Amino acid sequence: MAYASIGVKAVLGFGLFVGLAAQPALAANCPGNPDALGTSRTIVVDPREHPRIGTMQYSETLPLEDHEVVLTFDDGPIPKYSNAILAILAEQCIKATFFEIGRMAREYPEGVRKLIAAGHSVGTHTQNHPLTMNRLPIESAQKEIDDGIASVKAALGDLAQLSPFFRVPGLLRAGIVEDYLASQGIQTWSADFPADDWRHVSSQTVHNLAISRIEAKGKGILLLHDIQARTVAALPSILRDLKAGGFRIVHVVAATPELPKTPTNAQQWQMHPTSETVAISHWQKVPSFAFANLDMLPAPTISASDQMLSLTESFERNRRVRGAIPLPQQAPWPRQSRLQAMTDKTMLPVPAQDLFGIAERHSVAIRALVQLPHHAQQSPRGSASDSIARLISINASAAKRTIPGSMPVTQPGLQPGPIGVR
Ligand SMILES: [Zn+2]
Repeated sequence: MAYASIGVKAVLGFGLFVGLAAQPALAANCPGNPDALGTSRTIVVDPREHPRIGTMQYSETLPLEDHEVVLTFDDGPIPKYSNAILAILAEQCIKATFFEIGRMAREYPEGVRKLIAAGHSVGTHTQNHPLTMNRLPIESAQKEIDDGIASVKAALGDLAQLSPFFRVPGLLRAGIVEDYLASQGIQTWSADFPADDWRHVSSQTVHNLAISRIEAKGKGILLLHDIQARTVAALPSILRDLKAGGFRIVHVVAATPELPKTPTNAQQWQMHPTSETVAISHWQKVPSFAFANLDMLPAPTISASDQMLSLTESFERNRRVRGAIPLPQQAPWPRQSRLQAMTDKTMLPVPAQDLFGIAERHSVAIRALVQLPHHAQQSPRGSASDSIARLISINASAAKRTIPGSMPVTQPGLQPGPIGVR
């Protein structure tokens, strides 16, 4: 039984209240570290009932209570950084969910096995991490998904240890891909907030973005990458501040015939449940046609945000030009709204189009990474991962310098590798 070692039995049937009930026991559950953040509870989800989660893109997210956070890590394993992330989580007795790249699992199968041994949930993230899942022919997308699962399964040696959880590379969703995943009983995970740790920002920025976005939403799924030095550097302070802020970590596992789902109601799968009795709150509801337009972009772009921001200015200009309407001179809202909007912009949790643009400009690095096995053969494993990190760094900066804004270079058969773009 794959989940026998993670203590799920202790939480079954307690539903809503187990998080609070488990809190005092955290220190006892983390021998050697009485100050550990710990894992407050484990929830068991049924992917078939909730096939798409994460409010960055979907109407539903995990049924978390206020101040509950789920940690997720993408793109591993790369021993140098994945091991460091594992050590940090172990010190804090935290269980997380990892979305592994099939090709990396083939390269470092022991890295995947370590995750299971430590009690984490392991999902998949395609075989080659193509940043084209939103436009691949469905047969190619299916192959990426299936090959990724097969590779991670091969590393684990037991499909039962693999969680039916999947995250689309770059969050570049497509309805037809999500439908295929759902047909396989696989849950598509977006996130509720990223920390931009795939970008060339400091670890302090990663920390600040993680904490500010978590605090803004109050609960949810945090998207990180276990292949980035800045993430390794930022994680201890993120966990420290989460604990200081009263946040609790929740582990998520999938239901099985032997492991029934945690009882929940539909409202709990909404980030901001609405009251059916208060008419004014109905505007918050996500419309039921959210999935009807399958070709819709995954998230608002920065430029779209800019257009929204400019509305207040436009209104102000129009008011001056038209002039015929005697509006109050001291009307406070345009100026205040603009300031508020700027704040919102800095906290915007969704992936913007230009972020993906940055990622795609790294495609030169992808071509270098295609040669990974050659490098790996020439050097011990440890230094092979160093080579990966160097290749990502050197080639990414070179690509940005030489072909800014260019379209990604298509490499038939092998698409972008473990570069930190979700
Ligand atoms: Zn990724």
